[in-house]
Formats: sequence, C-alpha cells, structure tokens
Amino acid sequence: MEQKIIIVGAGLTGSLLSIYLARRGFHVEVYERRPDMRTVGMSAGKSINLAISTRGIHALQQVGLAEKVLQKAIAMKGRLIHSVAGELNFQPYSKNEHEYINSISRRELNVMLMDEAEKFPNVRFHFHHRSTGINLQTGEVQFVDERTSTETTISGATVIGTDGSASAIRMEFLKTGFFNFSQQYEDYGYKELTIPAAAQGDFRMKKNALHIWPRGAYMMIALPNLEGDFTCTLFMSESKATPNLRDLDSGEKIRRFFEEVMPDALPNMPNVVEEYMHNPIGSLLTVKCSPWNVGGKALLMGDSAHAIVPFFGQGMNCGFEDCYYFDTLLEKHGNDWETLFTEFSALRKENADAIADLALENFVEMRDLVAHKDFMLKKKSEVLLEQRYPESFISKYSMVSFHRIPYSVAMKRGQIQDRVLMKICGTLETIEEFNVEDAFAQITQEFTKAGIEKNLTTR
Ligand SMILES: Cc1cc2nc3c(=O)[nH]c(=O)nc-3n(C[C@H](O)[C@H](O)[C@H](O)COP(=O)(O)OP(=O)(O)OC[C@H]3O[C@@H](n4cnc5c(N)ncnc54)[C@H](O)[C@@H]3O)c2cc1C
Repeated sequence: MEQKIIIVGAGLTGSLLSIYLARRGFHVEVYERRPDMRTVGMSAGKSINLAISTRGIHALQQVGLAEKVLQKAIAMKGRLIHSVAGELNFQPYSKNEHEYINSISRRELNVMLMDEAEKFPNVRFHFHHRSTGINLQTGEVQFVDERTSTETTISGATVIGTDGSASAIRMEFLKTGFFNFSQQYEDYGYKELTIPAAAQGDFRMKKNALHIWPRGAYMMIALPNLEGDFTCTLFMSESKATPNLRDLDSGEKIRRFFEEVMPDALPNMPNVVEEYMHNPIGSLLTVKCSPWNVGGKALLMGDSAHAIVPFFGQGMNCGFEDCYYFDTLLEKHGNDWETLFTEFSALRKENADAIADLALENFVEMRDLVAHKDFMLKKKSEVLLEQRYPESFISKYSMVSFHRIPYSVAMKRGQIQDRVLMKICGTLETIEEFNVEDAFAQITQEFTKAGIEKNLTTR
C-alpha cells in the first residue's frame, strides 16, 4: 500500500483527504500554489468563516477531528432576520436542540487539517507549487515554483485534483474531448465586511445565530467569530441590476445604501466604507462536469469537480463528504484506482448536481422568502409535520444540513414538500388553521406520483 499519491491543492478538501489517505498507509505528497498560511499572514481564501454541519462533521469524526474542530466553532441555532425597520425575527433551524450549524474560521480549520496531516510521517506538503497541468497519459504533473519560477514534473501512482473551482487539473480533462463541462456565473458577487467586537470583546448582536438582512433581490448575512466580531457578506448583483456592488463606488453612496436598507447594521459597522472600498468582489460559480476521472490516472474532488454557490452552506461539507465516501471505496477496492474512481464519480455526481441546484434555490429563500408570511407559516408547518410523522417527514433544510440522506433524495423529497406546503400556507392566516393530516396526505400523494417511498431512511 505504500504507493505515492499526489494531491494538487491543500485547501479544505485536499488537506482532509491527505489525512484519510495517510491513515491507510499511502505516501501522500500535497502540492499547494499558495505559501504556507501557518507562516505568513494571508487570506485563507474565499471567505473568512463558513458553516459546518452534519455531513462535514461526520467526515471529521471518522478521522477523530470533529470534537477538536467544534471546540473552535460557534453554534448558530437559527436564522435571525433583520427587517428594514430593525425588527428581529428568530427562525430556529430545527425543533431538536442538537440540530444546528456551526460557524468556523476557514483559516483555523485549514490549519488544523494541515497540522493533523503533518503528524503522519507519510504526508508532505509542498507550498508555492502551482500546477500548470497534467499529462493524462502518464499521470505526470507539472509544477512551477512560485518563488523561483523553476519548473518540475512529478509523478506518482495517481493524482487527485483538489485545486478548487478554477482547477488546473480539470483544464487538462477538457482537452481530452471526452469530458462534459459547464460553468454558470450568476450576476451575483459578494463583498466581505465586518461588525467588530464591542469594547469588552462582546458580540454586538445575538451570538448564536446566522443573521440575515433579506432585501428581495439581494441580502447581507453575518456569521459570528470566536473573537466577538461578525463577518458580514453582502450578496448582490455584481453589475447589472440596481443596486449593484460596483455602483457603490464612493463613501457617500456606501453610507447612504446602508442607511436606507440596513439601518440597524450600519452603527455596528464603523469601518464599512474603508472595507467596502478595499475588499475585492468575490465571484459565485456553479461548475458541473463529468466524468470526474480519467481512468485510474487522475480524479477531481471537492470544488474542482463540483463548485456550488454558497447559499446552502454546503460546498465544503460536500467536499468533506467526498473524502468520506472515497475512503469507504478505498476499503472496498484498495488501490484499483480506475474501479475506485469510476465508482466514486458514479456515486457522487448525482448528489453534487443536486446540492448545486438546491444551493441556487436556497438563495431565493434566503434573500427573499424568509421575510414573507407564507414562508414563516411553512416553517411552522414543517415542525408540526416532523413531530407528527417523524418516520416520513423531514424538512428540506434538515435533510441537507442535519442528516446524511443523499443530496439527490433530499432534493426530490424537499422540492415536493416545499411545493405542497407553500401552496397550503398561502391560504392560511395563522398556523392554527394548518391541518397536519391533510398536508401529509397531499405530500404522500405527490411522493407516490413521483415514485418516491413514503418512509425515509435517515442519517
Ligand atoms: C463566500 C463563500 C462562502 C462559503 N461558505 C460556505 C459554508 O458556509 N459552508 C460550506 O460548506 N461551504 C462554503 N463555501 C464553499 C467552500 O468554500 C468550498 O466548497 C470549499 O472551499 C471547497 O474546498 P476545496 O478544497 O475543494 O477548494 P478550495 O477551498 O478552493 O481549495 C483549493 C486549493 O487549491 C489551491 N490551488 C488552486 N489552484 C492550484 C494549482 N494550479 N496548483 C496548486 N494548488 C492550487 C488553492 O490555493 C487552494 O488552497 C463558501 C464559499 C464561498 C465563496
């Protein structure tokens, strides 16, 4: 089993994967374009913090890291909706106390994973090494040392590309001519801003919540950090709609925007103008492709295989779940890479596509629906259904965030449930008017029509 595996990209997926492979005795060489974030002050990438939930936690549990990671996380028990008038509405994520999502620093998590990986004598990280391509016939990978511009070629038993949404390894797959690829850019970008801690290091807003300022076509969210601050992310049209991120190009326009649409946030954002002017606009992409492997020579995993928009908080969770399933197939197939990679792609592709679509759908929910009466009634109706029919009904949000039900199953069931419940709730004034039995009958009728089992095997 002492074959050499090359991993390209030491982000969240690549670093966790290196641990899984090291535990099975492989010799793992991880090549990363950036410097070592443990030794230089640099951004850890796409977002300051992110939400980890059941799927990601489960994958960490398998390598004994869940507890350690969660000690550095802050529980977010529900959404706290901020209206323009400054009214607050808390919507719990679940009726069960133990079901919540967790805010964690991306840097801290990535560092923990790399530290843990390096405890294995059979794992080595090479920083400043940018892959420029792979020869898919031989499996040789080309790298440039970003400090010296020196080029090197490395080969191993196989190569796994965890080099993110703009994957260089994937570029080579495109050239084979036997590869499907789509990249969808929404006219949405994001800006990260800060609500700093109060004088004594206290949180300026409710700590254990994911804050949302839903404004129809756009929204801001805020996730808590251990230091008492919140990282805010403003998701808005990048350039085409009004308002858009690029149009806010002066201190006056930025201030006026926040005064008008998020007046309760502005007093908590003393550096908003400087941060807005300084921080880049991030882009949001959905990447779908197949197959994820070229024989047994190379495999794509994590965002390089399936980049999704962040509105369900599942991109990393899905990448971590990839690592878990990859490991179960390692158990089954050992180093028969072609069989393993082919089965892995078949198993995960349908689910990656499903969470990509669910994430796009959830943007509408977060930026718009959460503020509407029908939606709030729907949330309450879901609690009643979950209490009454625990074997058969779990809300879409819970199936995705608090269970390990395949994403494709969660999507099929969840979309039917949502459609039926939104229709019913649109006719109600209060939740007391909701008829649980009747709603359940309508849902199961739709399940039957779609060939879906009534009962659900969970977790
Ligand atoms: C704003 C935002 C918020 C998000 N919030 C959440 C959330 O709450 N929950 C969640 O689960 N997910 C979230 N995500 C998604 C999550 O960030 C990604 O799914 C996750 O980072 C994917 O990990 P990865 O390791 O596959 O890719 P990446 O994190 O992109 O890592 C790729 C690594 O490869 C390196 N690399 C790239 N090119 C090369 C090359 N040519 N050679 C060598 N190395 C290379 C990069 O430097 C990087 O270290 C969010 C994403 C965004 C944009």
